[in-house]
Formats: sequence, C-alpha cells, structure tokens
Amino acid sequence: MKKLIEVKKIKAYYVLDIFGKQRTVRAVDGVDLDVLEGSVHGIAGESGCGKTTLLKVLFAAIEPPLRMIDGKVYYLNGTGTIDLYAIDESERKKLRWSFASYVPQGSMSVLNPVLKIKDTFRDFISSHLKGRSKIEAYEMAREHIRDLGLPLKILDAYPHQLSGGMRQRVTIALATVLKPKVIIADEPTTALDVVTQRGVIQLLKDIQSRQGSALVLVTHDMGVHANISDMLSVMYAGKIIEEGRTEDLFENPRHPYTQYLIKSLPRFGDRSKRESPPGSPPSLFNLPTGCAFHPRCPFKMVKCEKEEPVIFNVGESHKVACWLAEG
Ligand code: SF4
Repeated sequence: MKKLIEVKKIKAYYVLDIFGKQRTVRAVDGVDLDVLEGSVHGIAGESGCGKTTLLKVLFAAIEPPLRMIDGKVYYLNGTGTIDLYAIDESERKKLRWSFASYVPQGSMSVLNPVLKIKDTFRDFISSHLKGRSKIEAYEMAREHIRDLGLPLKILDAYPHQLSGGMRQRVTIALATVLKPKVIIADEPTTALDVVTQRGVIQLLKDIQSRQGSALVLVTHDMGVHANISDMLSVMYAGKIIEEGRTEDLFENPRHPYTQYLIKSLPRFGDRSKRESPPGSPPSLFNLPTGCAFHPRCPFKMVKCEKEEPVIFNVGESHKVACWLAEG
C-alpha cells in the first residue's frame, strides 16, 4: 500500500511559562509513523499520552505553547513528497482539508451556531474552492450529504436543532466534502451514547472505504480498534511503545501496557474482573528514567529503571519498545 503520510522522529513539546519558570511537556517525543492509503490506522492509549498532540502534528495545527522541536512530516500526494514544516503557511493551508482533514472531539467547535448547516458548507466550500458560486457550493453539499445517506433536511437546520450524534455526522461530512486523502479523527465519539458512537464510527469507516482514503483514528476504546483499525499504534508517555497489524497486536500483544489495554476490554459472556493498568500515567513534565512504564510494570527488571528500551522488530510490521523482547 502507498504511503500518504510519513512521520520521522517527531518531537513536539508544550513549552510553558509557570510563575516565571519554563516547564516543558514532552507530549510527542520521537515518534515515527507511516499512514498508508486505504487503511485505518488506530492510535490507542490513556488520556494524556500524546495522542491528540500527534494528530495536531499530522494536521500541521501547531500553535503556541506547542512547538515542533525536531523531526519531519512528509505528505506524499501522488505528484511528489512535501516536507510539511518546510513549506510556508499559505501552502500548508491549501493542503488542509483537501489532502488531510480533521474531525475534532466536539462538533460545536466547528459548526457556527448562528448559521444554518448549508451556509456553513457554502462558506467552507467557497473558501477552499475558489470560483465556486453559491449555488454550486449548495449543490456540492447536497450531493455529499445524499451520498453519505444523511437526511437532506439537516442542511436547513441550525446546529442546536440537531442531536449530538447528528451534529458529529455533519462535522464528519464537512471534513470530507473535499474528498481528502487522509481523514484524521480525534476521539470522534466523545460524549455520545453507545449506539450513536457505533453509527458515527461506521460513517467514518464507510467514507474511508468509499473514498479510498486513509483514516487515522484516535480513541482509547480498544473495542473500536479491534473492529475497524487495520494498523494500531499504542502510545505511552509521548512515544509509540507498540505498533503492528491490529490482529497481531490483539493476538500477541508484546508490551505489558498493550496487554493491560486488551485485558481491560469487556468480553461477551465473560464475567471475570477486567484488569486495568495499575497506577496512573506519568506526568509528561517529569518522566521516570529508563522505561516510562516501569513504575507500573509487573515485569520490570533493573535495566528497565535505567535504560530506555529500544525498538525491537518482533514480527512482520510488528514492533515493540520493551526490554522483554530483547530475547
Ligand atoms: Fe516493563 Fe521493562 Fe518492558 Fe518497560 S521495558 S514495559 S518496565 S519489562
């Protein structure tokens, strides 16, 4: 499968001024990632592990206090390789929504409360496709909404007249109306009930399949990853600590943290107690030495407290950062 995005050794830190003292939050700390055409790439991990910051890096949505410290992000758009942080902001703006689009956690941050949905679409389309008339922009919105199987009457509604689930579907429709090659979705089902969550995830999956695009999906819900992700990256303390085909990770998770995440999933008919990782994630202000998971790891060795694990290849496309894999 063709690469659409290539991330090389990215470091993105929040540099904060707290009572006159500079503090650094290492939100993304040396991450490599390939996003492949036609695939769903899941990113899993607990809150505060750097997932959302990684998505901001992929979408070039870096704003202070977040800073790119090191590394490269390449967009491979079929005509060449674009070094995303070497081009100027006006060039990046052209790539946003047309090459890569972003579905945020909350729909209200995207939809203008005083505009009907059709006018939000019109403004969005006109600002990205120069020369489109108002009528053409409305027609494009209607066609897209119809293709997605959503009711056309939503175009005449204001955001507050729609349910939370429908607003999130509208946000997804808006983010995909320009047929982007990569859809980046950040916990798109937060605050929705379980049945609505399934519908929203299915909509994203349907669009990804129909448009042949890639979907980068952040969710802490391992059940969603098991159902729709082709590849899975597990993040912990700003790093990817395990990555591989989703079925391989679920069948043979090698990192103790991944094992906990999978064990915490409820299984049909299984009434045994679910196991969550002991303790809580470390502060990104002040990471433990060696392996950042060592204070929570039941298998830790002396080496783990001192030396950060390197990445071991443990199967085809399956990598893990844990000393247990050293052999
Ligand atoms: Fe546990 Fe050591 Fe592996 Fe870290 S490197 S996960 S502490 S065994």
